[in-house]
Amino acid sequence: MTPSRLPAYAWAAPASLFGLVLAMLALRHGQIRLRAGIVEAHGRAIAWLLRTATLVPGGAAALTLGHVVVATSAEALEATRAHERVHVRQYERWGPFFVPAYLLASAWALARGRHVYFDNPFEREAFASARSMPRGVERRSPKRATEAQRHRAGA
Ligand SMILES: [Zn+2]
Repeated sequence: MTPSRLPAYAWAAPASLFGLVLAMLALRHGQIRLRAGIVEAHGRAIAWLLRTATLVPGGAAALTLGHVVVATSAEALEATRAHERVHVRQYERWGPFFVPAYLLASAWALARGRHVYFDNPFEREAFASARSMPRGVERRSPKRATEAQRHRAGA
């Protein structure tokens, strides 16, 4: 992290702190590492949480909280990295307002009869930006891609 990035880290710090608490679950039966200024963690307890306590149909492969990304496995971290990095940038933009804004956006989508996850504009940005990244930088999980494509097709 360079000094010029300090404000972005400070602005996202409340979410990052919560993310670090979640990442601690990987201390047993998991792994925590630092990659390009982002803490990445995966493990059994995190996998259970992501499968049972998120808005994603069928459970999430990964979740970003500030500068911390937790995932169900090392493979999931790899597959969702580009998508989750977009969420890191969103946290850097919105800071402590990101989570409320994200939840409001999901509620707004639901109120309009849209999908609570795929029609959230923060997710739309993450899917669109991750898609436009060069090969090798981004590899989404096949399940997520299939669901997104099916949803766009109106199924
Ligand atoms: Zn997302």
